[in-house]
Amino acid sequence: EAWNYAPSIEARDHFTLQPRYELFIGGRWEQPSSGRYFDTVSPSTEEKLAEVAEADEKDVDRAVQAARVGYERYWSKLRPLDRGKYIYRIARILQEKARELAVVETLDGGKPIKESRDVDLPLAAAHFFYYAGWADKLAHAFPGRNPRPLGVAGQVIPWNFPLLMAAWKLAPALAAGNTCVLKPAETTPLTALLLAKIIEEADLPPGVVNVVTGAGATGAAVVQHAGVDKVAFTGSTEVGKRIQRSLAGTGKKLTLELGGKAANIVFEDAPLDQAIEGIIGAIFFNQGHVCCAGSRLLVEESIHDVLVRKLKDRMATMRVGDPLDKNTDVGAINSRAQLERIQEMVASGEREGATRYSLSCALPSRGYWFAPTFFTGVSQSHRIAREEIFGPVLSIMTFRTPDEAVEKANNTMYGLSAGVWTDKGSKSFWVAQRLRAGVVWANTFNKFDPSSPFGGYKESGFGREGGRQGLLAYLEVD
Ligand code: NAD
Repeated sequence: EAWNYAPSIEARDHFTLQPRYELFIGGRWEQPSSGRYFDTVSPSTEEKLAEVAEADEKDVDRAVQAARVGYERYWSKLRPLDRGKYIYRIARILQEKARELAVVETLDGGKPIKESRDVDLPLAAAHFFYYAGWADKLAHAFPGRNPRPLGVAGQVIPWNFPLLMAAWKLAPALAAGNTCVLKPAETTPLTALLLAKIIEEADLPPGVVNVVTGAGATGAAVVQHAGVDKVAFTGSTEVGKRIQRSLAGTGKKLTLELGGKAANIVFEDAPLDQAIEGIIGAIFFNQGHVCCAGSRLLVEESIHDVLVRKLKDRMATMRVGDPLDKNTDVGAINSRAQLERIQEMVASGEREGATRYSLSCALPSRGYWFAPTFFTGVSQSHRIAREEIFGPVLSIMTFRTPDEAVEKANNTMYGLSAGVWTDKGSKSFWVAQRLRAGVVWANTFNKFDPSSPFGGYKESGFGREGGRQGLLAYLEVD
């Protein structure tokens, strides 16, 4: 009942955004030294939501220095138990403000409110709760070893799960005893700024968390700053590789969570209706702006036609449109640039000879939209089978044997996640052991829990987020 968002106007009345947001440095809201601000717009309406400060190298330098002071003077001096208490406090305030934050997440990023409400917000709070519990148990996490924080962490995050990625970065870093400079994505800065307000309200010591907004140049300034001891990046493989090259020889610790092209493997003995739901969720959740999206569907040849028919029938029930409407399944594409990338990839699929099917539905006249789409007749050499589209576009291929399924699934430069659908437990284990992917889901997809480590093989990056392993990214363990 509390979540009865029907008309968007009503939902928007539940909170007020400031017209302008400054940088959160050393526990204060600071103006950018350049005096420059950029607009953040709602991708579903193209309306301006707020102005946000653009941090340059000088601002980043102030933030890193504040983080150093926060580390030396406060955070490293606290008892681990007390660090944990602060992190619990963040988690609780996040829960209290979940409603407001879900609306802002949906406005700024375009994702359906039912996802912000049921996935992003609860998982973000859960992440802080989970890592708060580790703060005073690091010695138990690594028995007989001597886990120590790294110092100042520079963290750059993408626009697909803006608040959740901030939680994934901050919670383990803080629990492990580090201080942070966080750079949110330029199209979705608002929830990270609201999180900074929560951190203020939780009364964390100054400089423990700093938030600097801006575009790629701001991210680069964070990554390159000599005072940063550890870099954690989530985003495109291209930028991730650039960062990795630029940090060679600096001695900075690095973790990268990059792109994916996950195989979702459906055997003929799979519970088909359940698999259809899983396929839909795997690719259309968050408009497909998901690094672990099940974007390559590998179907056993014998059930290909029936599966495609069922998929079309199920897609016909999907609602695309106003993301603030609680019945919406697919919201807006995050930005015009991302929409153009998706259109370009879909055009390449058509050019290369795959058969396109797009849901026929009315799309709003303003904003950035793309109808749920799949391709059949896809070959492994097609770009739509190899490159990350990061949109609601599924590439369907077939296989005849489990060996062939595994071979095709692994035929990618990525290795973040995969799914397998079968009635036989032994078969899912057999397949999972052979897949080179950080996460393999069996008869489900896109399930997350703060206690489960998440991360890639190959060009999907390295390091794990979540679970006890997630602490390793922020600790020196002797
Ligand atoms: P991106 O990698 O350019 O941006 C991610 C973050 O990195 C943003 O905060 C951005 O400002 C920052 N950034 C950009 N250049 C930087 C640099 N040189 N140094 C440091 N930080 C920098 O991603 P994008 O352009 O927003 O999206 C492009 C593609 O990336 C998408 O089409 C998709 O394939 C992929 N992507 C993957 C993920 C993921 O979670 N794996 C998330 C977003 C995008």
